[in-house]
Amino acid sequence: MRPFAYERPESITVALSRLGDDVDGAAVRPLAGGTDLLTLMKADIVAPHTLIDLKRVVELDDRIEMTAEGMTIGALATLAQIESHPDIVGSYAALAGAASQAATPQLRNMATIGGNVLQRPRCWYFRDPQISCWLKGGDSCPARDGENAHHAIFQDSPCVAVHPSDSAAALIALDATVRIRGASGERAVSAGQFFALPTDEHRLESVLGPDELILGFTLPAPAAGSRSVYLKAMDRKTWAFALVGVAASVTVTGGTITDARVVLGGVEPIPRRLIAVEELLHGSVPSDDLFRRMGELAVVDAQPLSQNGYKVDLARALVTRALADATAPAG
Ligand SMILES: Cc1cc2nc3c(=O)[nH]c(=O)nc-3n(C[C@H](O)[C@H](O)[C@H](O)COP(=O)(O)OP(=O)(O)OC[C@H]3O[C@@H](n4cnc5c(N)ncnc54)[C@H](O)[C@@H]3O)c2cc1C
Ligand code: SF4
Repeated sequence: MRPFAYERPESITVALSRLGDDVDGAAVRPLAGGTDLLTLMKADIVAPHTLIDLKRVVELDDRIEMTAEGMTIGALATLAQIESHPDIVGSYAALAGAASQAATPQLRNMATIGGNVLQRPRCWYFRDPQISCWLKGGDSCPARDGENAHHAIFQDSPCVAVHPSDSAAALIALDATVRIRGASGERAVSAGQFFALPTDEHRLESVLGPDELILGFTLPAPAAGSRSVYLKAMDRKTWAFALVGVAASVTVTGGTITDARVVLGGVEPIPRRLIAVEELLHGSVPSDDLFRRMGELAVVDAQPLSQNGYKVDLARALVTRALADATAPAG
């Protein structure tokens, strides 16, 4: 690992002014739990000259609070705090489930929710410092015709890596808002808009600027009759990224689905919201047949690569099961 300076500011103004020091934003990086950033630094994928530790910044915290409007979660809340918080388990089960199925207990004690949604792809070409690839500024993507068993099945970007965060899909399904602070003030972005496919001009997976920080997340109060779930397929029972994940939040009123948000993870560079599925669910009566058709619809545009056709079957099955679980009679 290359040498770097380490700073622990206590005010967000100072932290933000340090981030803004760089022209390209790459050389000064915020540090939360460090479970992804330090790994990337050890592999020489990123080489910041300064890390700004966020843990002492008074405006940033790990508080999880239920209010009349819903739930607020500080950016520094760990996945371990989230998976065990009674209000999250009770009212936002998709998020608790996503947090509890991520990584390992040791990692979840360090990993913050802010860092979780900003972690970079696990693509083995991306993580190999010897290999040039489009996402790292190169011209082409070696995964397309290479080892792509864990890669995307929807082809909307020059990059076919998949978003590694479990909680990202859950936050979108739960209609969360991301609270962001930059030098010019605060802004709020819906989780669905926060993640953005990488483009030639912006080879990142979110709209967060290099001189901005995530303050936290706000989740609306769950509607009466709503329930959410997160299901994850892994190639072993624990300590594995999602081959495919699905977060679903469904509201049933008087026997009819009145609202649904369904999001796939592990299928493209950002979580994929299934708008067509959601629209057809709206106004429908829950049934096994309906959910099977929604599973089919979820993958209708899939274009798997040479080694990942199995993900299409997983996505179809997980969407069907998640909808059944989210609408099953209580108990
Ligand atoms: C072996 C292993 C297995 C894993 N398995 C899973 C898994 O199954 N599912 C899953 O979802 N994740 C998994 N992870 C990823 C892990 O959850 C993330 O590394 C972790 O959540 C990142 O959080 P952190 O606080 O450590 O972030 P850091 O590593 O500190 O930061 C990550 C990025 O976010 C930026 N950042 C952090 N906080 C902020 C903020 N508040 N504002 C702006 N920028 C910020 C940093 O600058 C950096 O770019 C795994 C990781 C490992 C090492
Ligand atoms: S999938 Fe994305 S990260 Fe992986 S090699 Fe291709 S461009 Fe790079």
